[in-house]
Parts: sequence; C-alpha cells; structure tokens
Amino acid sequence: MKNRHPKGLIVLFFTEMWERFSFYGMRAILVLYLTQETIGENPGLGWTKADALSLYAWYMGLVYGMSIPGGILADRLLGQKKTVLVGGVLIAAGQLTLAVPGIETFYAGLALIISGVGCLKPNISTMVGGLYREGDSRRDSGFVIFYIGINIGAFAAPLAVGAVGELYGWRYAFGMAGIGMLLGLAVYLWGQKHLKDVGLRTSPKAAEVDKKTPLTPVERDRVIVLLISFLIVVVFWAAYEQAGGLMNLYTKEKINRVIFDWKIPTSWFQSVPAAFVIILGGVVAAFWARRSKKGKENSSLFKMALGIMITGSGFLFMSGAAMQAETGVKAMLIFLVMAYLLHVVGELCLSPVALSFITKLAPAKYAASMMGLYFAATGLGGLAAGKVGELATRAGEFEVFTGIFVFCAVFGLLLLVFFKKLKALTHGAEEIKS
Ligand code: GLN
Repeated sequence: MKNRHPKGLIVLFFTEMWERFSFYGMRAILVLYLTQETIGENPGLGWTKADALSLYAWYMGLVYGMSIPGGILADRLLGQKKTVLVGGVLIAAGQLTLAVPGIETFYAGLALIISGVGCLKPNISTMVGGLYREGDSRRDSGFVIFYIGINIGAFAAPLAVGAVGELYGWRYAFGMAGIGMLLGLAVYLWGQKHLKDVGLRTSPKAAEVDKKTPLTPVERDRVIVLLISFLIVVVFWAAYEQAGGLMNLYTKEKINRVIFDWKIPTSWFQSVPAAFVIILGGVVAAFWARRSKKGKENSSLFKMALGIMITGSGFLFMSGAAMQAETGVKAMLIFLVMAYLLHVVGELCLSPVALSFITKLAPAKYAASMMGLYFAATGLGGLAAGKVGELATRAGEFEVFTGIFVFCAVFGLLLLVFFKKLKALTHGAEEIKS
C-alpha cells in the first residue's frame, strides 16, 4: 500500500502512549491529592486551592520547560534516540518515588518526572518527524496517528490511575503511573530495530562543521516564523491547560457529577478531552485533507489561529456553568462536556499541526532544540494557565472563564489579520512534493 507508514511509527506510538498514561494519570490526581485534607481515609496534603494551583502552574511550566535542555542534550550530545531512553528511566523513577510517603519524596519525585519528560517528550516528537523525508505527504497524518496514541494513554490514565487514587489511595496511583512508564520503556527497547537510524546524532565531526555554517536567509525566515508561532502556542495552552487545574477543582466542587444516583469520580472527567481527540482526530484531519484536495489548502498558521478561537469559545460554556453555580445549585454536566468538546476541536486544529510544522521548518541541525523550544512554549502556557486559575480564587470563576474567551477571540482575530505576512516567511516549506 502506497500510504503505509514506517514501522517505527508503531514503536513511537506505543512508547508515547504509555508515557502519557503515566503523565496524565499523575496529573489527574495532582491537585486533588494536594487539596485533600490530611485526615480521613485517604489523606492528602491539605493544601489550599490557591497553593495547589500555584504548584500545578510551576509543575506544568517546568515539566515542559525542561524540553529546552532535553532538546539541546539530544542535538549536542546523545541524539534523540538515547535521550528518550534516559527520559523514560527518569520518569519511571520519579513516579515510583512519589509512591513513597513523605514530603521530601514528593518533591524528589516531581523533580525526576520534570527532568524525564524534558528528555523524552520533545525528542520522541522530533523522531516522528524523522521517520519521513522532506515533502513526504504522510508526515501530517503520521503526526495525527501519533497524537491519537498520546490520547489513548491520556484517556485511560485518569480512569485507571484516577480511580485508584481517589478510591483506594494516592500512593498506589503514583505506583501505577510508574508501572505505565516501565511498560513504555519495554516497548521502546523492543522496538529499537524498527527505528533504524532515526534519532541518531550526526557524527561529531559533521555536527561541528554544521554548527559553523550560518543559516541561509530562507532558514532564518523559517526560524523567525517558528518563533512567532510559539507565541500562539503559549496563549493556546494557557487556555487549554485549565483542564487539569482550575477546571478539575471546579468539577469537584461546582459541577453536578451525579448520574443515576452514582457520583462520578472527579478525575474521570480528565479523560473526556482525550476521548474527544480519539473520536475526532481522524475527522478533523480528513476535513483538512478534503479541503486541500479541492485545492483550498489551509496553512498551519491559519489552522492555529482558528484553533485558538475555537478553544476559547469553549470557555463560554464554563461561563454558563459559573452563572448557574452562582445561583447556589450545582451546574449541569453538559456545560463541562461542551467546553471540553470545543477545547478539543481547537486542539486538533493546532497541536498536531504545530508538531508537524516544526519538523518541516526547523533547520536539521536545530531540529530537536526547536522542538524543545516548542514544548517550553507549551510549558509557559501551562504556567500561565495555573496562574490564571489561581486568579479565579480571588477574582471569581465566571470572570476568569469569560476573560479567557475574550482574550482568545481577540488574539485569534489579530493573527488572521497578519497571517499572510507570516505565511510568506515559510518560503513554501509546507508544499508537498510528489
Ligand atoms: N496533549 C498533548 C500531549 O500531551 C500536548 C501537550 C502539550 O503540547 N503541552 O502531548
């Protein structure tokens, strides 16, 4: 079959699926564990909501921010392939450390996970790009498939790890997240033969020569447009990453979670966006593909601007929930579900598109570093998300949800105004060679 993807994609798919299982499993319970009282059957750390959201902010900022050193480590020293392995080991060690009681082990575990994700996340994404040659038309769909793998992990994790954490005990849940990462490592080690030379570092000599040659004007323009696109990324994730923080605590306190006399665990709602990605990932990709077949190709930058506006509009539903909750009753579940639905449609316009965009535009010698920078931008978004969430404990939830909607709408419109100028800077990097 002409359109078959390289075998290496399966290996990266399952490795990342398990890594994300471990990541999102832990994330689903993080603020719940922090804010749970220190007494009772399943004691937590008894923090205030503001403190928990502040830690969430810093965790999200650092966990993706470490992608910069992670990318540099790969470009300069180890290559992506080995750096991913190091990352997996650090993450597994971190999750298992969280499972050991004590505040010292809690912080040590977080530090290990932060370093590990920094090594793994950007580099495994660059490796996906490395499976395809320049101009290969399968690249975008390869990233969509990879993105679905991410979300299978992200979907299963809150159901499994979240339920164990909320119903049996937080430590078992952290342990479970650690086991997930170990499974990912096993897949990765097993699959090495299918990755061939993907993610190997160029020989030190070649790299030395390469470093000395300056960027061509076209390469420079492309780096500039990438850096501008990272600004879009910061704003997008600042909105989107409310999910694990403010929206998670909001779900616990103000959303009516009872269905047929059964109260759904809060953490389970963290699976909802991932489920939407799995269901809609192919639909959105097919929609763009159909448009491009009709000769109406939309550039990545256009899709990203649209993504921000769609995700932002999801917050209108959260404003609706907040209005209802302010009358003293719990808000209807449908508000939350609709918000997540729009968040995901926006995400699908932006996130897999951005990954692919970077692997098309970044000069080869900076491939992993640019990916590192991209994830650092998502981290900055995550940090802002936590801080904005924290603001809601003072300014009120309705105000914050509505504010995010307005900001995204204005920002997206501004991008559309300038988008032709930005597109010119890509110098046709998005054209598909047949
Ligand atoms: N949800 C995606 C993932 O976990 C993207 C996260 C991000 O880029 N910050 O891979």
